[in-house]
Amino acid sequence: MLYQRSSKLFAEAEKVIPGGVNSPVRAFKGVGGTPVFAKSAKGAYIYDEDDNKYIDYINSWGPLLLGHAFEPVVNAVIEKAKQGTSFGMPTELETKIAELAVAMVPNIDKIRFVNSGTEACMSAIRLARGYTNRDKIIKFAGCYHGHSDSFLIQAGSGLSTFGTPNSPGVTQGTAKDTILARYNDLAHVAEIFESNKNEIAAIIIEPVAGNMGCVPPKPGFLQGLKDLCTANGALLIFDEVMTGFRLAKGGAQQLFGVDADIVAFGKVIGGGLPVGAFAARNEIMNYLAPVGPVYQAGTLAGNPLAMAAGLAMLEAINNDKDLFTRLEEKTAYLEAGMRKVLTAAGLKYTINRVGSMISVFFDDREVVDFETAGYGNNENFKKFFHGLLERGVYIAPSSYETWFITDALTYADLDQTIAVVAEVATLLD
Ligand code: PLP
Repeated sequence: MLYQRSSKLFAEAEKVIPGGVNSPVRAFKGVGGTPVFAKSAKGAYIYDEDDNKYIDYINSWGPLLLGHAFEPVVNAVIEKAKQGTSFGMPTELETKIAELAVAMVPNIDKIRFVNSGTEACMSAIRLARGYTNRDKIIKFAGCYHGHSDSFLIQAGSGLSTFGTPNSPGVTQGTAKDTILARYNDLAHVAEIFESNKNEIAAIIIEPVAGNMGCVPPKPGFLQGLKDLCTANGALLIFDEVMTGFRLAKGGAQQLFGVDADIVAFGKVIGGGLPVGAFAARNEIMNYLAPVGPVYQAGTLAGNPLAMAAGLAMLEAINNDKDLFTRLEEKTAYLEAGMRKVLTAAGLKYTINRVGSMISVFFDDREVVDFETAGYGNNENFKKFFHGLLERGVYIAPSSYETWFITDALTYADLDQTIAVVAEVATLLD
């Protein structure tokens, strides 16, 4: 494939935007090469500025569960924009999407909308601290909860790709209130509670991790965390920015039957526009201003275009009773196909999958936490990425990212992808 225009655009972007990108992982630093500049997209496909076509497994990093330029979302945004793009006043639309989200997700009474997943997680933590009157939080190595200061401690994905587990600019004072735990290691979390008695405000976790590649929780792990929180007067925060409305209508809480105390959302809830949200039972949500003392606000929070997109997306998900079965079947089909061809090529690999989140690691050891996820971050992954890209299959440029399967993918797309994986597999070591 030719990337002439992408190369030119990247060179121009680098002059005026740090690294040429507005979010680091887009720069292909971990895998090398020139990032591809997007021109347009529809359904399962994305087209770059050189008119190359790709089957897309990134899908804007998760929001586009129903594919690119999903018509109900596009139409809702166009119609809304004609009435004005922002009011700074409450709108009926905000209540409508809130009602639907509260109806779809278990265990929440109220929800507040923000503009990104970062804001959602950051606000969830502030609320948990205010509610419990405690400072410390437990986060898991390899989990990413956005780029706010408290979370940039072994935060997986982009940061791991760059080899900077902690970011300069995060103060020691902030970092000391974030205690790191090992994913899937309940005993470790119990020890942390033991040595920080009455100090932990909350545990924050990706209930299925997607920022160290896809790493599922071991059976009983999430319930074990809930029990530890209950026993120690702390709150359990599920960061469902990736998993919300993706793994089930009610997200990971519903899939695993575990009730979180606060849930953070992003990605799918905005249908491709900038939306985040956090939600909980009344008792906790009423701690937020203007009802309670915990402050949180936003000029564009609840923006009508974003809310229109989010509502159209959630309605489509809610009204489609077979959606999650289809997503499961399509992703299972892709998994089985890839296993077959990677095994036939004699490669060492591990595939992790939960519903429509799937990752391939080029190592045959079990991947259960951040350390084991690192085994798959190797030369074979880089070759795999570029081999797929060259052949029109676009996956995340880092082994620390999950692939996002959408309902727009057809079985013909999946077959083509498996054929490409088979071809590229022969080039790996
Ligand atoms: N939480 C998780 C689990 C995420 O994957 C992300 C982003 O990838 C975030 C939070 C941050 O969301 P945003 O990039 O919208 O700020």
